[in-house]
Amino acid sequence: MVEDRPPGPILKPPVFHVDDTTPEVVQSVLLERGWDKFDKGEQNVEDWNLYWRTSSFRMTEHINVKPWQRLNHHPGTTQLTRQDHLARHLKHMKRMYGTPLYEFIPLTFIMPNDYNKFVAEYFREKHVLGAKHSYWICKPAELSHRRGIIIFSDIKGLLFDDTYIVQKYICNPLLVGRYKCDLRIYVCVTGFKPLTIYIYQEGLVRFATEKFDLSNLQNNYAHLTNSSINKSGVSYEKIKEVIGHGCKWTLSRFFSYLRSWDVDDLLLWQKITQVVILTVLAIAPLVPFAANCFELFGFDILIDDNLKPWLLEVNFSPALSIDCSADISVKRKLIHDTIELIYLQGLRNERTGCRDGAKGSHSVSLTKLDVGRFNKVCSALPCESLLQFTSRTFKDESAVKKAIKICPENKHASQPREMTSRKKDLLLSTREAPKTKPKLKGRRSPHKKIIPFMSLIQSRADKTSISPCVPLDNGKVPGLQAGNFVLIFPFNEATFGASRNGLNVRRIIQKLQKLKNKQHSH
Ligand code: ADP
Repeated sequence: MVEDRPPGPILKPPVFHVDDTTPEVVQSVLLERGWDKFDKGEQNVEDWNLYWRTSSFRMTEHINVKPWQRLNHHPGTTQLTRQDHLARHLKHMKRMYGTPLYEFIPLTFIMPNDYNKFVAEYFREKHVLGAKHSYWICKPAELSHRRGIIIFSDIKGLLFDDTYIVQKYICNPLLVGRYKCDLRIYVCVTGFKPLTIYIYQEGLVRFATEKFDLSNLQNNYAHLTNSSINKSGVSYEKIKEVIGHGCKWTLSRFFSYLRSWDVDDLLLWQKITQVVILTVLAIAPLVPFAANCFELFGFDILIDDNLKPWLLEVNFSPALSIDCSADISVKRKLIHDTIELIYLQGLRNERTGCRDGAKGSHSVSLTKLDVGRFNKVCSALPCESLLQFTSRTFKDESAVKKAIKICPENKHASQPREMTSRKKDLLLSTREAPKTKPKLKGRRSPHKKIIPFMSLIQSRADKTSISPCVPLDNGKVPGLQAGNFVLIFPFNEATFGASRNGLNVRRIIQKLQKLKNKQHSH
């Protein structure tokens, strides 16, 4: 753990400011790290370094932020976190840059404006599918938490008001032990100008607690994976097939489960990081500049039985309550790593003289470091910890060999739809066919992997069992890691350049397209 203060005498502990909505775990982690809690009565109004709260900040609060302070929200990010706004922006990107890259959001209609379009699409599908059903989900555009989500196949079942969206229901989800799941991926945007995105390599997998069954669309415990719903169900406490007790796994457990079925988890993770970058890119040019803030988002991603990730939602202030052992192992460390990330970012800015975005804004560190002490800290950090956009290339053969070792190439991208148990070893020894034969869909030939730069860092950090992955091109890649956070944007010098002095979205999209093509050709 990087200390939040440089070594040496006289420094006061950094101070955090909270309100009634600040999650308990944030406060306890900061206290554990030696921070002091801001005390209105005792301290000056400006004597704090970090303000962390659930709701967004007013623009005046952003404007008045001091160089030594940080806020945990950017202005304007509801463009990402309201489902109707998100759908609109992604639709726009699809129109601008072509369908293939932006085909990760299910077809969405914003009610009531799109009602006629939806009806036309509904009947078009009905005509094409004939007797087969088509499935739809109607959900609130904002903060549903179980409020009126309806899944239907007959248009007569549709009920909505003007804050709802209707979306194609993904009816072929990847099932684990016949249970539906989705992934909660944590993403920290430390700046929109220039755009800087980190992904967290640990996360949560949220399960429905009753078996997936398209013949009963009314059963929320089988179709919705929100833990707020499932923890109140009768099956929550039961030991369920494969998934066991409760309704959550850690992401690393899920990925090692996939690996046990020979699924190419690295490729899946690459696709997820691309979804994250493409999503943030859709709103990045619209976010007003504000210095000294960061945002932790929760991306909800559903994987289908072709191993395709679908973006369902981006959560503002993702839940940080601790309900089960998976929460404990993920969320405390997530907050520790977020604080470290923000701190390292501050150091980097001071060291490189990088001014965050608009002219005249201040770069920030969480503590007021004098230059001498700051340099001491920087020299103690591993060199990968600081973004170094020097001409770092990977001609070094031994490094490349090391990366190849980390990414064994003999895994298949084929995918069982139903992964009912971890009986693989047993099956191998008895040579019997599995009772619930996994359905293999989307079978692809084994591909050669692109060697992720981050693997090199990861091999040293050896932190997590999830395959790290940054969409990558040819080696000239900047790297920064703080705990389990890994930089995913910018991911090479070209995208670094395209994100400075105004965001060149077209150029970045071209680079992403190139990567996708490479993945396909491999
Ligand atoms: P909330 O704000 O309640 O989390 P979501 O949009 O995430 O709302 O939807 C709740 C749940 O419904 C998700 O966790 C997922 O299990 C399911 N869901 C949402 N949209 C879809 C979809 N298009 N296809 C399949 N399942 C979906």
